[in-house]
Amino acid sequence: MNQHTPVLIVGAGPVGLALAGDLGWRGVACTLIEQGDGRIEQPKMDLIGVRTMEFCRRWGIADWVRDAPYPGDYPQDCVFLTSLNGYELGREVFPGRAFETCPPQSPQKRERVPQDMFDPILKRFATGFGCVDLQYETALVGFEERGDRVEATLRDAHTGATRTLTADYLIGTDGGASTVRAAADISMSGTPALTYTTNVLFRCADFPSLHRMGKAYRFIFIGPEGTWLTIVAIDGGDRFRMSIVGTPDKVNHSEADIRAALSRAMGKEFDYEIVSVMRWVRRELVADRYRHGRVFIAGDAAHLMSPTGALGMNTGIQDSVDLGWKLEAVLRGWGGAHLLASYESERRPVALRNVAASTENLDRMLSTRERRPPPQVFEQGAQADAVRAEYGKWFTETMRHEWFMNGFHLGYRYDDSPIVWPDGTPPPPLETSTYTQTARPGARAPHVTLPDGRSTLDLYGRGFTLLRLGADAPSGEGVMRTAAAAGVPMRLVSLDHPDVLRAYAAALVLVRPDGHVAFRDAADPAEPGALIDVVRGAKPLAGEERVRLEAAS
Ligand SMILES: Cc1cc2nc3c(=O)[nH]c(=O)nc-3n(C[C@H](O)[C@H](O)[C@H](O)COP(=O)(O)OP(=O)(O)OC[C@H]3O[C@@H](n4cnc5c(N)ncnc54)[C@H](O)[C@@H]3O)c2cc1C
Repeated sequence: MNQHTPVLIVGAGPVGLALAGDLGWRGVACTLIEQGDGRIEQPKMDLIGVRTMEFCRRWGIADWVRDAPYPGDYPQDCVFLTSLNGYELGREVFPGRAFETCPPQSPQKRERVPQDMFDPILKRFATGFGCVDLQYETALVGFEERGDRVEATLRDAHTGATRTLTADYLIGTDGGASTVRAAADISMSGTPALTYTTNVLFRCADFPSLHRMGKAYRFIFIGPEGTWLTIVAIDGGDRFRMSIVGTPDKVNHSEADIRAALSRAMGKEFDYEIVSVMRWVRRELVADRYRHGRVFIAGDAAHLMSPTGALGMNTGIQDSVDLGWKLEAVLRGWGGAHLLASYESERRPVALRNVAASTENLDRMLSTRERRPPPQVFEQGAQADAVRAEYGKWFTETMRHEWFMNGFHLGYRYDDSPIVWPDGTPPPPLETSTYTQTARPGARAPHVTLPDGRSTLDLYGRGFTLLRLGADAPSGEGVMRTAAAAGVPMRLVSLDHPDVLRAYAAALVLVRPDGHVAFRDAADPAEPGALIDVVRGAKPLAGEERVRLEAAS
C-alpha cells in the first residue's frame, strides 16, 4: 500500500467522489478513503442541479445520469394537501424528468436521481481512472501538518489497525460532523438547529392506488397546525421518504409517532414496510475558514443548509470543481503561491448565500404555521371549496421560489475573486428564480449553441481557453505566449459567430478550467504577464489594485 499520495480525500459521499473524479479526469493521483462500505442506508439528495449536470457533461457521464433507473415518466408534481385522501390545496405541475426540457441557458437540465443511484455513478466515474485509489472501511482518525506534507492516521474498520499515509494536501469531504474540520480547529457560524426532523424511508408498492392525488414527486401536508409532514417519491417506484418536520417542543419521534403520522397522511390505515429511520437536525451553518495550511474542507464539512432548494450537494460539487483545477495547478507547478487561497474567497460567499436562501425556503414551507389554514379548509361544501382555493393559491405561489432557483444553481459568481481580472463593468444584480447569462469576469461562461451543435461549454475543462470572438478579434498571441512560458495549459479557440460574441460581449475572453470567466476585453492586454500572474494565483489582485484596475478599464 502507498505511503504517500498527492491528495488525500476523506469521505466518499457525493462531494468526495466528485473531487476524486475531477482529479482523476485531470490525471492527478489521489486517495479517497471512506469509513463506511459505500452502502447508502437512506438516500438524502435526489435532485441534481443543472450546473452539476453541466459538470457531468464535461466529465462524460451525463448519459449515465440520464439513464439512471428513476423512471422518466414519473410526474414530478409538488402537491399541497390536507391528506392523501383528503383535500388538495394546490399543485405545481412538473413533467417526468424525461420530458423536462433544458433551460435556454444550458445544454443540460436538472435530474431527479437519488443518492443511491448518483453515488454509484460518481464512484464508477472516479474509479475509472487508474490514478484514483478508493479505499472503503478506512477512517481518518487524525492528522498532523508537517510543513511540506500532511501526515494522516487511518484506521481499518475490520482490524482496527492504524497506519500512516502522508499527502501533499488533505481535503475533508467528510460531511457535517467532519473530523477534518474539528482537527483543523475550524469553527462554524450560523444557526445550529432549525428543525429536529425525522426521515422515514418506507416501501409501499401500491402507494399511488391507495389515494386520489395521483403520482407526484412531493406531497406537503398541511394540518390545522400548519405544515407538519412531507412525503417524496424517492425512486419513482415503491420507495418513499416521509419527513416529520418537527416542532421545537417535540424533537423525537417514536415508532408509534411514525406509524400515526403515516396513517394521518394517508387518511386511513395501510400496509407498508419501514426500511430505515434517520433523525437529523436541519442547520444553517458555514465554516469560518475553508483552509488550514495544506488542509481544506468542502461540501457538508464546510456548509450545512436546509434541503429546501436542493442546494446542499450541488454547492458541494461546485466546491470540488473549484478545488480540482487549483490542486492540479499547484501539483504540476504552474499554480501560484496564492492560488489555493482563492478557494475560500470564491466559494465561502456562495455558501453564505445558499444557506440563507435554503432557510428562506424552509420559512416559506413553514409559513402556514404563522398563517394557519382557516377551519373551512378541512370542511366539505362550496364555501369551504372557495376558502381552500384561496389558501391553496397563496401557498402555491409562496412555494414557487423553491422550485425555480437557477439564479443560485447557475448564477453564482466570483465577482471579487483575487484571481479574476475585472473589466470595469458594474456587477449585474444577483438573481434568484431567474438567471441571465453574463460573461462578466467571475461569472460562469455562458452557454451558446454552436453551428455544429456543440455548446460553448464543451470548449472548457482541463486547461484555460482563450476565446477570439468575431472576424476582427485580437490575436491573443501575447497571452498564449506568456501562458506557455509559465507552463499554464491554454487553448486558443477562434469563433466567428454573432450569438457567441453577443453573449460574451468582448472579442477576447479567457475562460478558466472550471468554466468561469477570468478576463475579457476588446483588445489584447497591454501586459499579458500581469494577467497570467493574476489568473494563476501568482500575484492575486489585492483590494486596492482591483479598484484601480476597475476604474482604469
Ligand atoms: C433529506 C435531505 C434531502 C436532501 N436533498 C438534496 C438534494 O436534492 N440536492 C442536494 O444538492 N442536496 C440535498 N441534500 C443535501 C445533501 O445530501 C448533502 O449536501 C450531501 O450529501 C453532502 O455531501 P458530502 O459528500 O459533502 O457529505 P456526506 O454525504 O455526508 O458524505 C460524507 C462521507 O464522509 C464519510 N466520513 C465521515 N467521517 C469520516 C472519516 N473520519 N473517515 C472517513 N470517512 C468519513 C461518511 O461516512 C460519508 O460517507 C439533502 C439532504 C437531506 C438531509
